[in-house]
Amino acid sequence: MLNIVIFGPPGCGKGTQSAMLTEKYNLVHLSTGDVIRKEIKSGSDFGNQLKSIVEKGELVPYELIIKILETSLAKHNDASGFIFDGFPRTIAQAKDLDDILAKDNQSVSMVISLCIHDSKVIERLLNRAKIEGRKDDTEEVIKNRLKIYKEQTCPLIDFYKEQGKYVEIEGDCSIDDIFGQISKIIDNHTITA
Ligand code: ADP
Repeated sequence: MLNIVIFGPPGCGKGTQSAMLTEKYNLVHLSTGDVIRKEIKSGSDFGNQLKSIVEKGELVPYELIIKILETSLAKHNDASGFIFDGFPRTIAQAKDLDDILAKDNQSVSMVISLCIHDSKVIERLLNRAKIEGRKDDTEEVIKNRLKIYKEQTCPLIDFYKEQGKYVEIEGDCSIDDIFGQISKIIDNHTITA
């Protein structure tokens, strides 16, 4: 099984690349952000609970996000692999992902990190706000998301580097360029695995 974590700040292109990779490698795209937005849209009690957290750019509490992850994984137990997008976002979540995958004798195959500058993040997300109208794409909330990313998510870089699973790609390139680079990394991994 191919279990890819796609990593990087908000707006780095994780969703776009995940959609393309899902198709090429027949993987299931598991975006915790998408699951959360769907839940909020449904108007459920759980969704309402999530709404105020997400709109401030804060992280959804640990127990809730693990519940979301496990429910989503359980829906795809015949999958040939996953792309985890937006998860893990903390060391605790990464350890949990390892434990959940280990129950099926699986592990994270690789972490592909898309690097872009903060100024580019802000520019891209403000642009996206005009098109998609996401409530968490205001300048103030974007800055909070970036701050949380640096404080809570960036420690994952060393966590995965130590396991030899971390690969970095320049994210300020064309969509096709990035897709080509990621595909090469996956193809090499598949050959040597
Ligand atoms: P982006 O990568 O653009 O910041 P996502 O779509 O991945 O956004 O996530 C949107 C929001 O959903 C996050 O700001 C956070 O509130 C919540 N969220 C998503 N994934 C997680 C997670 N793994 N842990 C905690 N909160 C999460």
